[in-house]
Amino acid sequence: ASNAAMRNALKYVDQPGPDGKHCAICIQFVPGAKPTDKGGCNAIPGDTEISPNGYCGAFVQKK
Ligand code: SF4
Repeated sequence: ASNAAMRNALKYVDQPGPDGKHCAICIQFVPGAKPTDKGGCNAIPGDTEISPNGYCGAFVQKK
């Protein structure tokens, strides 16, 4: 399932953002079973189809 309202609010896209920013290196990302699988995001509740290569305005780089 996807959370269209929150995706729109955060301007989520299925491709990396500037400077190589992407979901797999964001503190909000909840990875799937494999690194290439879609996962979840703590900033986009209920969405199970977040791409590890996606990006949105709530990106915060993992330390
Ligand atoms: Fe991806 Fe945005 Fe969620 Fe970070 S906050 S994991 S960039 S959708």
